[in-house]
Amino acid sequence: MQSDIAVHLKKLPAIDTLLRHCAPLTERYGREIVLSELQVKLQAVRQQILEEGVTAATREHLLEQICEQTSCQLEQAFQPSLRSVFNLTGIILHTNLGRAPYPQVAIDAMISISSGACNLEYNLATGKRGRRDDHVEKWICALTGAQAATTVNNNAAAVLLTLNTLARKKEVIVSRGELIEIGGSFRMPAIMKKAGCKLREVGTTNRTHLKDYQSAVNKRTAAMMKVHTSNYEINGFSSEVTATELSSLAQKANLPLIDDMGSGNLIDLTALGLPGERTAAQALSEGVDVITFSGDKLLGGPQCGIIAGKKSIIEQIDRNPMKRALRLDKLTLTALESVLKLYTTPTRLRNEVPALRMLSRPLEELQDTASALQAFLTTHFNSELTCTVDACQSQIGSGALPTKTLPSVAVALAPKHQSPDTLAARLRQLPQPVIGRISHNKLYLDVRALEDSQGLYNTLGALGQH
Ligand SMILES: *Cc1c(COP(=O)(O)O)cnc(C)c1O
Repeated sequence: MQSDIAVHLKKLPAIDTLLRHCAPLTERYGREIVLSELQVKLQAVRQQILEEGVTAATREHLLEQICEQTSCQLEQAFQPSLRSVFNLTGIILHTNLGRAPYPQVAIDAMISISSGACNLEYNLATGKRGRRDDHVEKWICALTGAQAATTVNNNAAAVLLTLNTLARKKEVIVSRGELIEIGGSFRMPAIMKKAGCKLREVGTTNRTHLKDYQSAVNKRTAAMMKVHTSNYEINGFSSEVTATELSSLAQKANLPLIDDMGSGNLIDLTALGLPGERTAAQALSEGVDVITFSGDKLLGGPQCGIIAGKKSIIEQIDRNPMKRALRLDKLTLTALESVLKLYTTPTRLRNEVPALRMLSRPLEELQDTASALQAFLTTHFNSELTCTVDACQSQIGSGALPTKTLPSVAVALAPKHQSPDTLAARLRQLPQPVIGRISHNKLYLDVRALEDSQGLYNTLGALGQH
């Protein structure tokens, strides 16, 4: 027995031999990673021989087997971690699924800018150093009526930078009804603290009056702030102070009024059949001194934060060293520039901004998309599941218009031999994962954000093999 084991162990290939045999893998994935995988595999075979006295196959066979296994494993490991998915959750601007898909003009701009040098901070007229925000500022100003604008990585950064610039070591007055938390990690009191400001809460959760703000003003006050209550609504016995009222108070006290608008709407959404939402231009015309909003919510562009308003304030913000740490890169800037330009022709928006296109898709079209999907599923998976076309409600998402839903259509899947959770997990394992929503013991696929039906069919075709 002892000598059997010795014989088997002797048959094991040397690691160098294995490495040579797996040369295509080392070329593709790098020597270090392949080497360490092969060592693990070889050790496992050695262990098996020691413990079970198992006969290893012939050396050639072992070489083949180990290389093959390593190849499969590395292929899995090297799959892109960040992948395209089908968002059939019914939440269109889904923060966990990357929010707004990019308009084609933005994609084209990014491709052309990414491959070489560009005039990011270079003034082509003078041949001198330029300012990166110049590429978008005039468009933001034209669309909002602001005197000046600057951009950062997201709206959280915009709020942080604005507060830090205008009110460090000072107090900022905010209504208790507006102390929002968004997605767990953005809490107004915490942002305030990190910005170095002291939050001065006024009023109560449901009611805040002008006199509450008024009586909170003191020597240490540096700004007043309004915050869009993005993901909730206070109804019933409630009252809030409008930006117009607050702005005249702020003006008298010689304080800037900041408005964190959240989703950053630039147009009359009712023209697209959507619920109305205050625009950036409205906020500024109401007397707000500086607004902040996201680029990838209702605007339908890249992730970024836009700060717009009085020129003196924007200049001050740009001089804050923190701006350097939060600034946008060239790809986001070029994407944002191209999206903003679309907004000068509102008639193009419904077609060319995917987020707005999906949000405004007519019900009949959704019905057709869902019926076709149902027919496909019934044809191919009749033995596995029953599916019906059901009315449902989509949400805009990202805290935009939280209490307003959009009538939509879903295909509801009821698996015959497994739980909806198991089916949902299988759909998530597909080459392009399909993400739905479980409700009433069914898996709902809301088709509002489904534009590539053929792509979905091709993907679902692989379901049998997974
Ligand atoms: C979404 C939101 C934020 C955070 O914006 P990000 O772009 O996600 O950083 C801040 N304030 C309000 C009111 C929001 O709705």
